[in-house]
Amino acid sequence: SALRRKCVLGNWKMNGSLAANASLLEALVAALGKVQNVDVGVAVPFPYLAQAQQALGGSPVRWGAQDVSAHASGAYTGEVAGPMLVDFGASFVLVGHSERRSLHGETSDVVADKAKAALAAGLTPVVCVGETLAEREAGTTLAVIGEQLAPVLALGADAVKRMIVAYEPVWAIGTGRTASPEQAQEVHAAIRERLRQAGAGEVQVLYGGSVKAANAASLFAMADIDGGLVGGASLDAQDFAGIVAAA
Ligand code: PEP
Repeated sequence: SALRRKCVLGNWKMNGSLAANASLLEALVAALGKVQNVDVGVAVPFPYLAQAQQALGGSPVRWGAQDVSAHASGAYTGEVAGPMLVDFGASFVLVGHSERRSLHGETSDVVADKAKAALAAGLTPVVCVGETLAEREAGTTLAVIGEQLAPVLALGADAVKRMIVAYEPVWAIGTGRTASPEQAQEVHAAIRERLRQAGAGEVQVLYGGSVKAANAASLFAMADIDGGLVGGASLDAQDFAGIVAAA
């Protein structure tokens, strides 16, 4: 819809180094320093938040993290709390990325707790949902996504309105296999309907899974696709800027 701004977020995953990030961040500012009509951001590994803040501060490119604790502080060794991310200027955080769900046992209830903690800290949670290939082939895609969203939507309209949702089919993440625009739109429309029923129909819903400059425009042209969550292609400033240009 014309009412919703397009949004393109990069997910660096566990990649980078001070040296490599310095060139990437400099190239991002050069390529995207004047971007106006698209919300743009990068989710960096925790240790590099200060570096991202230094490099991107004053530019329109935002920065955020890839995970957040469900707790605000205390005896949670190894966890990072929302207020700590805010201390370094983060404005958003991914929650429930498929790698967190599959490799770290995050349930949809935990994901909802993390989204709630992010909001309490003043961060925008980017709630990631998506089905596996087996679930798609079994015809359960929309049921799976409904279950993943349910505890998040139960946080209430005022909370959900301050979130972003990312639809990322697991079979498309890092595989080079992108959902077709029609396949993605079908799920986005179903997500939009659930959001609408929860009183938050204008939330941005991003598509993720092997988005590249070459396929971004056709995905972003779909009625309920408001931009992208980009993994691999966000590690190259020109590729990422090409995706932003398609938004
Ligand atoms: C992701 O990690 O969220 C993602 C979509 O990765 P890729 O773009 O590499 O498929």
